Amino acid sequence: MTEKKQTAQSLNIRAAKAIADTVRSTLGPAGMDKMMVDGGGNVIVTNDGATILQQLDITHPGAKMIVEAANTQETMCYDGTTTTTILAGELLANTQELFNKGLHPNVVCKGYRQAAKWAVEHINGITVEDIEPYLREVARTAITGKALESNEEQVSALCVEAVNRAKGDIKRISVVCQPGGSLEDSYCFSGKILNQTFMMSSMKNEPTPQVVLINSGLSKKEDSVQVNVSNVGDYKSYQEYANKDIWQEKVEKIANLLPKGGVVFCRDSVNELVAALLSKNNISVAQRVPPSDMEAMAILLGTTVAHSVEDLNGADPAGKVLQFTMGDMQYISIEDVHGGENTVTTLVLRGATRQTLDETERGFDDALGVVCLAFNSERIVRGGGSSYMNAALNLRSRAAEIGGRAQMAIEAFANALESIPATIAQNAGHDPLDTILELRNEHLQGNFDYGPDIYNGGTISMEGANVWEPYELVKQAIQSASEVSISILRIDDIIGRKSED
Ligand code: ADP
Ligand code: MG
Repeated sequence: MTEKKQTAQSLNIRAAKAIADTVRSTLGPAGMDKMMVDGGGNVIVTNDGATILQQLDITHPGAKMIVEAANTQETMCYDGTTTTTILAGELLANTQELFNKGLHPNVVCKGYRQAAKWAVEHINGITVEDIEPYLREVARTAITGKALESNEEQVSALCVEAVNRAKGDIKRISVVCQPGGSLEDSYCFSGKILNQTFMMSSMKNEPTPQVVLINSGLSKKEDSVQVNVSNVGDYKSYQEYANKDIWQEKVEKIANLLPKGGVVFCRDSVNELVAALLSKNNISVAQRVPPSDMEAMAILLGTTVAHSVEDLNGADPAGKVLQFTMGDMQYISIEDVHGGENTVTTLVLRGATRQTLDETERGFDDALGVVCLAFNSERIVRGGGSSYMNAALNLRSRAAEIGGRAQMAIEAFANALESIPATIAQNAGHDPLDTILELRNEHLQGNFDYGPDIYNGGTISMEGANVWEPYELVKQAIQSASEVSISILRIDDIIGRKSED
């Protein structure tokens, strides 16, 4: 290999390792938090790998590829980003020795590709398919070590409740965070909660009011007609004339659709006069409702969002619609009356401060995501790095099958897999080498669910410790980490190019 090629490769590897080292100390339930500060002094305190990587100011292309792999992990599995990053860093770090021994990058890539395939196949064979009794454990595993941990019983129960209600569809679960109160005041609401107020509230709290959703606004478009007026009286009468002309029809149409009053949710802004006219008909209006909230309400009501007033052809009944105050914010809640197919659930999170609440929300996102993942894929494995450990044992026993020098790469892959339980143990203050040696022994004896005992040191059954995670998460972590490492190893030169514009 030429010197230039070696330099490009080792620079990429070094950058990837640096990224892995940044998040290493946050892995596992005893992982530490990172305080991230930007130029303006804004602070985030987090333990979440995805958040740390998103916030890092990264310029090196090799490092960016690792961050991309972690992003894929986050998008597909909602969790496991730190694991993916550490695994990729370790896979690349281990190549250095292979290169020193004279292995060509292509041989290493071949070995890594085979090892990833075998590892995933092996872990597939140690999954549990009856997930129902373990969903809470899956949620708990995702949140241990996060800010939520002190309320893990309640948090995992809330997550499982929300996922069960939404039948595993994460799009039907939304989270509303409001500072003030404590985490124990959090609850799972059956329906949708919007961070909104009604314009001129004429709410009568009907038990099942009629609701319409409009994907536009009820305000005057800027028309290009120029009107010259010479005094205030003329202007006022023109305005009255224009407003009346444009709005009367629309107000009448809505009022006809909602004869007993009701609620209109609009995507865009609504003219005050229109709101006042509708309010006379006992109709409340909420304006500038975000598209995602409109969509969630459409699912909840089992209807579609009308493009404009002209497209409206009926109203839909909703459960109680209520405007209420929580902390210092106004909210509107729409209860779910349909249940079944249209279930939409909102988790209302309370917490002392905005900062703790942000971290709480990130923890909830991870936990909700992994519970949905387990719910949908119906496969889970024991956590704590035990599945990686067991796959490593299997890889070593099969390394010779591939023949030639590639078997050395298989062994390097096995070592990288072991870094997951090793790091979990190290972050809990225990010796990583002793833990790995002990774990190898346990796994050799058939104790395939053994992982690090983070509380007492040594090793322990992960099934006994109720540590479970979705199989998909482990599979994706191994695949993303090996793919990104292979991509990086295949790069032999970094060349400047014209910028895209
Ligand atoms: P990631 O970003 O990869 O999800 P985390 O910091 O959330 O990183 O750590 C996840 C790892 O911690 C998983 O391998 C999980 O199985 C492990 N883990 C969670 N709880 C325990 C526990 N009580 N004992 C040992 N390992 C645990
Ligand atoms: Mg996690």
